[in-house]
Amino acid sequence: MSEIDTLIHARWIIPVNSSRDILEHHSLAIHDGKILAILPRAEAEQQYQPKQIKDLKGHALIPGFVNTHGHAAMSLMRGKADDLELMDWLNNHIWPTEAKWVNEQFVHDGTRLAIAEMLRSGTTTFSDNYFFPDVSAATAHEAGIRCQIAFPVIDFANRWAKDAEQHLHKGLEVNDQFRNQPLVNVAFGPHSPYAVSEDALRQVAVLSDQLDLPVQMHICETADEVSQIRERTGKRPVHYLEELGLLTPRLQCVHMTQLNDDDIRRIAEYGCHILHCPESNLKLGSGFCEVTRLKKEGINVALGTDGCASNNDLDMLGEMRTAALLAKVVGKDMSSMGAYEALECATLNGAKALGLDATTGSLEVGKSADITAIDLDVLECAPLYNPASQIVYASTRNQVSHVWVEGQLLLDDRNLTRMHESELIETARDWHHKITSKA
Ligand SMILES: [Zn+2]
Repeated sequence: MSEIDTLIHARWIIPVNSSRDILEHHSLAIHDGKILAILPRAEAEQQYQPKQIKDLKGHALIPGFVNTHGHAAMSLMRGKADDLELMDWLNNHIWPTEAKWVNEQFVHDGTRLAIAEMLRSGTTTFSDNYFFPDVSAATAHEAGIRCQIAFPVIDFANRWAKDAEQHLHKGLEVNDQFRNQPLVNVAFGPHSPYAVSEDALRQVAVLSDQLDLPVQMHICETADEVSQIRERTGKRPVHYLEELGLLTPRLQCVHMTQLNDDDIRRIAEYGCHILHCPESNLKLGSGFCEVTRLKKEGINVALGTDGCASNNDLDMLGEMRTAALLAKVVGKDMSSMGAYEALECATLNGAKALGLDATTGSLEVGKSADITAIDLDVLECAPLYNPASQIVYASTRNQVSHVWVEGQLLLDDRNLTRMHESELIETARDWHHKITSKA
């Protein structure tokens, strides 16, 4: 018998592999943070002597969710301004609050709260785009969750940087600082075609090519943005970005609710990724991303929650269900985004978009043990014909019981192992008090 770190016995394992398997009564062996084997339970019991065993009799193991787009620290503004149009929401509520309150402590506390919420809903990798990215990266590293830190590049001054040039300079320092942290990946996060100058966008294109770093940007979020860019440049946003050299397989396009045939052709041709954030698009009334069409063109579509202030949660199970339902209406195709496909969008496609699919996104031997367990032995999921369907269409995040990142157990029977819930709630209350009493 060989000694290993952890052996998980599960009722189902949904590896999210190319053959779309659903394994029953299998076990997953973890050693040195990696998936060592996935095999029938009886064989696993004969073969391995684990230091830790989890016997999850009514659970499904899936790859941890990859939340490809968000602004973690904005969790401290959850519910502060709702039911508004995007530019009104940004100009009159979010940006003024940020100008007044965002500092290192805000980012630390908000990011921690967001990470706790994400772990408790099964996310093992998240992408962040926010001020003080060095603080977000350090907070994620300390929490043990995998992340992509897309450092912001924006023209206007804020407490982190005064102009686009300084954003780039400080962002590249963050890249150097976290170069040797395997859980932290750094990317460029130019805000949008309308909030970053042409010069700065050209610089991002050149630097991302030189350093082989991804670029994540809000693109074609609203119809207004498209008109604004067309007025300024004579081109639609996607065409404009093509001319700046930004359309590459490293580009992660967030939202994309306003695409025409020409835009879709360019995105497919360059192999850019689309990060679909349906709940944020719905809440801000931005429009619909035509996922069914994009997928038919072979474009990789992944899911993100966006920031908590426009969602208002960081729940990938909820996002996945919304995406699956919406795809049928928008694509006028009931078979569009079936349950297994929705799981792919929330896991493996996200890892592909972030360039992390060799490491995470599916449960396969040799990949990192980034795993989420969902308890399906509950009356809300009875009877159970198909666990993938039950996860996508009938489960809530309260059923997420265990989460491992790189083999480390970060959520144990719904308890966070490295953070205290009561402390997180207390800190959020303090911020609420500060922000509202002096606003
Ligand atoms: Zn966003």
